[in-house]
Amino acid sequence: MRKQQVVGVVLAVALAAAFVLTGCARGEHPEPRGSASEQPGGSVGLQQTPFPAQSQPFPSQSQSQSPPPTPHAQEKSASVDQGGTSRTIPLLGHSHGTDGAEGSSSGSDAVVIVPQASVSPSLPMQVPAASPAKPGTTVEKSFRIPVLYYHSIGVQPDNNAVLDPKKLEEQMAYLAKEGYTTLTLQQFLDIWFGRMEAPPKSVLLTFDDGYADNYTYAMPILQKYKFHATMFMLPGKVGDGWYVDWEMAREMLKAGWDIQSHGMTHPYLNQLKPEQQQEEIDEAARLIKEHLGVESEVFCYPYGVFNKETLRLLMERGYKAAFTIEQGFTEKTQNPLQMKRLFVGGKDSLATFIQKLTKGG
Ligand SMILES: [Zn+2]
Repeated sequence: MRKQQVVGVVLAVALAAAFVLTGCARGEHPEPRGSASEQPGGSVGLQQTPFPAQSQPFPSQSQSQSPPPTPHAQEKSASVDQGGTSRTIPLLGHSHGTDGAEGSSSGSDAVVIVPQASVSPSLPMQVPAASPAKPGTTVEKSFRIPVLYYHSIGVQPDNNAVLDPKKLEEQMAYLAKEGYTTLTLQQFLDIWFGRMEAPPKSVLLTFDDGYADNYTYAMPILQKYKFHATMFMLPGKVGDGWYVDWEMAREMLKAGWDIQSHGMTHPYLNQLKPEQQQEEIDEAARLIKEHLGVESEVFCYPYGVFNKETLRLLMERGYKAAFTIEQGFTEKTQNPLQMKRLFVGGKDSLATFIQKLTKGG
């Protein structure tokens, strides 16, 4: 009897400990406080939370209006050769210098991306029962995947944010020759969450902003190699001519592209009020679902900036990952809502491209 009592006490203590641990893991402290290096709840909560977009339709309040102007929202222009005539395309403030940063945060509450943000070892990645790892495969404990990001594809030699289609072709040919696997977004997430091993040479190709020239130039080039890519589009820009329209987006989906959200209008999210951020995130997701039938599960921060409110909104909505513009390989040790990428500049030589691809910068 005495032994049973001891066992009972041990069990009770263990259950209490488990309760506390899982409570933390589920993000019962939804608003990360304190320093910017705090984690937004870890990946466990993300993985366990189904995406609730449909159950939480965004209230239709003044979505059609432009967001209030922000002091840093000035757009840069670039001349793009389209069919022999030089036109000016409004590039979204991508002040790409040598590091390819989309811009820098000047908001006082901006979250500073902390390199090598580590996932707490007490919160191991959990694989949902519905998606078990394949029999016979072992879950990678670490990996490094280059996630390349592009913007406009066109001819504008002086603008580092615009990549000549010939260079894109050259880069894709290199990837094909070297036997790279261009991941779908689902494959990327499966690798990230331990449901699949990364192919030896994996790369995720991403295109920010949803420029129409991605449809015109990038899609045919990638199709030639049967490559996949992900485009982060701005539903609020659809219809102005410089960006893909829904019909183009649907064609890109058919051609093997994934399409996810870059927000509605490309603001500096960290400078918006919480309700404005919510509108940017939710309305973009609603329109992408409505027009493309695609759930928004992966986000790309405009200008790479965000704050704790942005993280809270994405966590609440079950986003599985979000990309910054911090340079480097995407690694298992990074927070899934603060993933690094590698900028491919218009001025990059093939050697520079290979350097970034293989060395992470
Ligand atoms: Zn952008």
